[in-house]
Amino acid sequence: MNRRQFLHSSAAFGALTAAEFAPWQSINAFAREVEDFVRGPAIKDHPLRQVSKHVWMIFSPDGFPTPENQGMMCNISFVDTARGLVVVDSGASVQIGEMAIRQIRKAFNKPVIAIINTHYHGDHWLGNHAYVEAYGKDLPLYAHPGTIKAVQGVQGKLWRTLMEQWTNQATLGTRVVPPTQSLEHGAELKFADLTLRLHHFGTVHTPFDLCVEVVEDKLMLVGDVAMDRRIANMDDGSYLGTLQAYETLEKTGCSLWLPGHGEPGAQVLHWNRELFEGIYRPCEQAIKDGLPLDTAKAQVLKDPRVASRAKDTKGFESNIGKYVSLAYLEAEAAGF
Ligand SMILES: [Zn+2]
Repeated sequence: MNRRQFLHSSAAFGALTAAEFAPWQSINAFAREVEDFVRGPAIKDHPLRQVSKHVWMIFSPDGFPTPENQGMMCNISFVDTARGLVVVDSGASVQIGEMAIRQIRKAFNKPVIAIINTHYHGDHWLGNHAYVEAYGKDLPLYAHPGTIKAVQGVQGKLWRTLMEQWTNQATLGTRVVPPTQSLEHGAELKFADLTLRLHHFGTVHTPFDLCVEVVEDKLMLVGDVAMDRRIANMDDGSYLGTLQAYETLEKTGCSLWLPGHGEPGAQVLHWNRELFEGIYRPCEQAIKDGLPLDTAKAQVLKDPRVASRAKDTKGFESNIGKYVSLAYLEAEAAGF
């Protein structure tokens, strides 16, 4: 019996006992034992690449989690300071964290000294588990206070479970290790030769996103505030908040944007702004003209800013309908 078959038979057994025999406590105890015993397989190595003088990344080619990619969907970034490496977003599982640690140990003879999680979506923090195991439980894990609360609360368990489902249990064995140290807008972390400046713009992709400016490199790690050829999860976000954040980001003097999804480059904000303007403005116009959602959606799909990006945007077909609805609702709320 392989791991997956074992897990399925265990899950079936668990369901059976839940229905017929055991009280909930023993079901939970049983589930915990299975969890300790069964662990998803290791993930293949993905190469480390240099982005700027002090910033390196492990690029994720896929935009969404699948059984095949084992949850490898989010870029993992490293700031190389004289004191050690600072990780920005740790990936979607303990296995991905372990893979990243293998890569940095090949390239650097220095420890990881801190992690920053840009927001509470699990592909950005579930890898914390591996770093705490490798570098000790006192490793500082930074995030916005709202992100810390969210991961300690519902979002933590929710994301771990979702990631297991999306990857057909490949991420099994990953523990929720929430960030612990609060960072607010304007905070600066100094690591010997480098300064990391934190930016928070209110609700953008979530209510608590942090962008991390590597001051000396004029580079901004934007998390999911901007993406490259991928449509963002906007369930907790704001189109207007995003567009306002871009205006402020552009005044920082940074020239290179490193997103959580897609390629880094000078054009990332521009690419994402055009897409979001193309989704939001037709919805805004439809609200002004008293037109229904269906008409707004047709206008969005015709908008050249959207139409020109549809083909090479990951997740476009499956998500555009939902994201037009969200834009329409936001425009409706903003109209009052
Ligand atoms: Zn996200």
